[in-house]
Amino acid sequence: MVRKIRVYGDPVLREKARPAGAPDAELRKLARDLLDTLDSADGVGLAAPQIGVSRRVIAVHPPPDEDGVREEPRIYVDPEVVECSGGEEGAEEGCLSIPGVYEVVKRPRQVLVRATDLNGEPFETRAAGIVARILQHEIDHLDGVLFVDRVGPMRRALLKRRLREFQT
Ligand code: ZN
Repeated sequence: MVRKIRVYGDPVLREKARPAGAPDAELRKLARDLLDTLDSADGVGLAAPQIGVSRRVIAVHPPPDEDGVREEPRIYVDPEVVECSGGEEGAEEGCLSIPGVYEVVKRPRQVLVRATDLNGEPFETRAAGIVARILQHEIDHLDGVLFVDRVGPMRRALLKRRLREFQT
């Protein structure tokens, strides 16, 4: 089911989400809703708090590669960044919860993410480039962190008024 995407100013986006818990029917429903909502918004990543559920679950659907091939979307339950490497890189990011705002954010180039799937099976993903960026952005959501928190102080000051507009 496509759910309403919460926007900046909604307190659920600032909560630290609780562990996803057992891979039960409720969790599978949440995963389905995340995928439906991500697809309908034509996004590349979505975290459960963005649809109002404070549980540690994210959906990631990287954009097509240079050959136009697009991977299937993937659900990560209780995802954790366990290793960063390759130095940092700045690139522009946006967020479905902060529509119209795009800023350059510096993040580690490569990450190793540990998570479980919907059957409770653990897996690890080593990601670089855009996939590494999406994973970090979505995992931040589970800790109540938004990409605008990670821009430099100058840009942040300039953003202040625009962000306030979301809250009225
Ligand atoms: Zn986001």
